[in-house]
Amino acid sequence: MTEEHIPEILALAEAVTQKPDWKQALDSVMAVVRSVFLFDNLALYILESGSSELTEIAYARAVGRGQSAGADVAWGAEIANRVIAQKEMVVQIPADSSPNDDRLTKPFLLGLPLRTYEGLIGAVVFVRFGGPEYTPAQIQRAQYIATQFSALFVRKKLTEEITALQNARRLLEMQEDFIATISHELRTPLGFIKGYTTTLLRKDTKWDEETRREFLQIIDEEADHLNELIENVLESARLQSNTLPMHFQPVRLDALIRDTMIRSQARYKDLQVRLDFSVAPTITADSVRLSQVLENLFSNANKYAPGAPVTVYLMQIKDFYRIRFVDAGPGIPSEYLPNLFQRFYRVPGQAGAGSGLGLFICKQIIEAHGGKIAVESTLGKGTAFVIDLPITGPKLGG
Ligand code: ADP
Repeated sequence: MTEEHIPEILALAEAVTQKPDWKQALDSVMAVVRSVFLFDNLALYILESGSSELTEIAYARAVGRGQSAGADVAWGAEIANRVIAQKEMVVQIPADSSPNDDRLTKPFLLGLPLRTYEGLIGAVVFVRFGGPEYTPAQIQRAQYIATQFSALFVRKKLTEEITALQNARRLLEMQEDFIATISHELRTPLGFIKGYTTTLLRKDTKWDEETRREFLQIIDEEADHLNELIENVLESARLQSNTLPMHFQPVRLDALIRDTMIRSQARYKDLQVRLDFSVAPTITADSVRLSQVLENLFSNANKYAPGAPVTVYLMQIKDFYRIRFVDAGPGIPSEYLPNLFQRFYRVPGQAGAGSGLGLFICKQIIEAHGGKIAVESTLGKGTAFVIDLPITGPKLGG
């Protein structure tokens, strides 16, 4: 290359190195390539990892002269496979290259191998319809362009590997955090059970019937707590790793709320609930999971707002259905609200059994439905949980 080529070399090098994302870099490389090399279509093929034959199309660009992208790729695939089989450049010109026929039927093809330090990774194919033929100088220029494409693919691969490693590290950190918290949470009830059992078993002390019952009651409650904790932990782990399947089907939302209320009232005798529905919609939901969310809210109202009436509103707001679950309990100080849906979070000084997993699980379930859950609370007045579910239902497969 001579001095006149330096601006072009510089432009290509800048395009490769200066864009944060490899796809953006590819677009800027293409912009430079278009201005320095004549072609109608270009396609990049990358070898599927571990294979030496099949090529997948990684990128295709038509710059004009009327061919559909599908046709470009089909033409390119054959020559790309030849480049890969022969591991070298392939130039193919039409047998009849007389200029007066329909030039779209006369592709002049140039296929070049893409190589990195790991060997052959794919091929780039240029097409010129009806010529002109590729001169030796142009072929050299195309070879230089191919090295720049190869550099971009190396970068793509490295970026993907870095992202995979970062994800693996984040997962590991989460698991370590999780193990630390869960060991602590499991030890607390286990400590009570062990303590009271040892006390009861002491041979040197006689306990009266009432004290014995009281201790056994504590052991029983703590065993229940332990059981609930383990259930919740398993459930939240499955939800977080997306391995808890959702069974979506049409569900009458008003009926689901009413049924859950009836079940909760059977369990919590003092629970007073009023329903205030302005719609009776059928939505796409997992009815078991959605009931679980409401059951958890009823259970919390019973635990944290005992004796206070609960009102459940159901309404439509624009393109979603809103459930407002309102209790007239003591409320939650505003500084704790942002953490309420976090795993294991409990308001400091909170009395009574609990794992801090209930609202976390609720949030995961609502989000799996494409919805949102939020909390509003005023000290001394009460707490409202607001659930918004999209009318269009969850986005499936996304
Ligand atoms: P858990 O009930 O096991 O502690 P949750 O995730 O269900 O866990 O709730 C987190 C915390 O939110 C509770 O510990 C409690 O402090 C607070 N909370 C939840 N619901 C209410 C409510 N209706 N009124 C007041 N505080 C509540």
